[in-house]
Amino acid sequence: MAVRSILVYPHPTLLKPDNADVLIGDPSLDQIIEDMNDTLQASPGVALAAPQIGYSVNLIVVDVNQDKNEKNRDGRGKVILLNPEITEQSEPHRVREGCLSVPDFTGNVIRYGKITVEGYQPDGTHIAIETQDFEAIAFQHEVDHLRGTIFLDRVRSRRKDLFRRR
Ligand SMILES: [Zn+2]
Repeated sequence: MAVRSILVYPHPTLLKPDNADVLIGDPSLDQIIEDMNDTLQASPGVALAAPQIGYSVNLIVVDVNQDKNEKNRDGRGKVILLNPEITEQSEPHRVREGCLSVPDFTGNVIRYGKITVEGYQPDGTHIAIETQDFEAIAFQHEVDHLRGTIFLDRVRSRRKDLFRRR
């Protein structure tokens, strides 16, 4: 059990534009996945990208069924995805988003309502996930983290579209 601290914007590890692909079968992978799971479990969030806990690799965990809002719990449960890429996207619309690495603000951003995200499961199996709504947004947000993009970068007007959390 290792709950790691979540890095807060603008920590430089969060801003790296590219991170290393995970090598399937790498012996350090189990430790990273365990830390990701433990840290997400201990947090109020529903998804996490490895750079948020200091690992500069392409790995995300998404589990929207942990959301405190019942209407958001329409996902497939926990997905651990290695080297993810979004290969299809449609139905752009505006959503309000937050981030564990930006604890004091939420913001309006444009996200796609339907996507396909491809990657590998920890055992090396390739997987293509078609998803929509809140789960699709969570995947887009986490893949952004792997490219050094924070939702703040997608907020059009910091004056009109950024909101301080109460
Ligand atoms: Zn985030």
